[in-house]
Amino acid sequence: MPSVPSLSATHLYLYAHCEHRVHLELRGDSGVRLADTEEERALKARGIAHEAAIADALAFPRPAHGPEARDRAFEETLALMRAGEAGIYQGVLLAEDLIGVPDLLIRQPGASHLGDHHYTVADVKISQRARADQALQVAFYAHLLEKVQGVLPSEVYLILGDGSREAIASEDLGGVFEQALADVRAIRDGGRATDPFFQDACPRCPWRGLCLPELEARDDLSLLPGMTRSRRGALARSGFETVSTLAAARPERAATRSGLERRSLLPLIRQAQAAAKRAILPLSPGPRPEGPPELLVTAHENPENAGHTVLLTISLSDIKQGNRTALIWAADPSDEKALYEKALRAFSRRPHAPVYHHGRSAVWQLARLESRYGSGSAGLQALHRMTDVAPLVRRAAALPVQRYTLAEAARATGYAGELPPEEILPLTWRAAGGDEEAREGLLAAAASEREALQHLIGWLRSLSETPAGTRA
Ligand code: SF4
Repeated sequence: MPSVPSLSATHLYLYAHCEHRVHLELRGDSGVRLADTEEERALKARGIAHEAAIADALAFPRPAHGPEARDRAFEETLALMRAGEAGIYQGVLLAEDLIGVPDLLIRQPGASHLGDHHYTVADVKISQRARADQALQVAFYAHLLEKVQGVLPSEVYLILGDGSREAIASEDLGGVFEQALADVRAIRDGGRATDPFFQDACPRCPWRGLCLPELEARDDLSLLPGMTRSRRGALARSGFETVSTLAAARPERAATRSGLERRSLLPLIRQAQAAAKRAILPLSPGPRPEGPPELLVTAHENPENAGHTVLLTISLSDIKQGNRTALIWAADPSDEKALYEKALRAFSRRPHAPVYHHGRSAVWQLARLESRYGSGSAGLQALHRMTDVAPLVRRAAALPVQRYTLAEAARATGYAGELPPEEILPLTWRAAGGDEEAREGLLAAAASEREALQHLIGWLRSLSETPAGTRA
């Protein structure tokens, strides 16, 4: 009889992102699983180093064996728990068909099978904010603890990248966790079918070599920006199973048959038509970007240690005076205030030029800099001048893209230059650590972002002759 794979917190984490990934990790052919990308490897290495630094400072004991020797490691963990250690690092918990290796077990007052104390769990994360997938992981450990010690800890914890501790009430997680665990068990046991669905994580997923050709071959609706699983399901049940069939759909009929609202269906049909024809379908030209002269901003942050902006580029594009770019570095967090002051000086030299960026990162980082170093009106004026080009592009046309990233949108609209790389985080980390090669790589990435952004602004201008502010 085939063995049933044990479930771990990782399966719950993956479930929160992609059910099909859970199926593939448990039942897929490992021969077609690709190696982690550089970004994934860098993220894991940083996570492990961060966790080890916290564990070293706490000096908690850990079982002599790791999860490879699961039964021995569990016995050793139980012995540490019965002895009432203040904390345990990477204990191994076993119950039912589950195995868990929580980062930290922390002793709490209150009787249990262990004696007059019990344990709760704290998981160390590199991120700055708690996420639902992480909450599912600690709920998984709380469930295991309840089986092992006979008491469900009232609260479980996430220790975040900035050192803060986020408490989560176990009872708040119960219903969601139980459903998630039941679903994961059903996926493992064959009672719940899964299939691929294109999403942002796919280009970095180790199963992309299997899923992406499958999605392309079946002309899957998930390849359209804006598609959700529930919309795909409603469309498939009403006979629109592929991008081509949706592209040929009459909106009224498709809305009636699928039960989807016309206003959410129309953009999907336009996206399907753009994909089927491999063509740009103009929508509304919208307001024309103002300028030149104009300022273009790119920003790169190190998400660790409460995040700090590592590189800010501010480019002036000016027909009369030519283009100039200010590269402002803050390799160390202590340089960040000076970086912001330089940025404000660059903005103030062109007080009336619009400031363009793509996506939310640049504006978030400038808002964070303003909240940290509070310049007052200069910073708020700079923020007020910022315009995100991404929604302007989406409003202007349906592009034959799978995602409206800067790179995909620029390429689809005729940009032939170097594209910014997908994996920028490892470069940012290494550059912040003083690696000269990474610094050069990050500069090149920022330059290609600026070029692609400049291209998109020019493309938007070419669509419209109407100056901003004159259109309803
Ligand atoms: S490639 Fe995409 S659909 Fe396939 S398992 Fe990974 S995340 Fe899921």
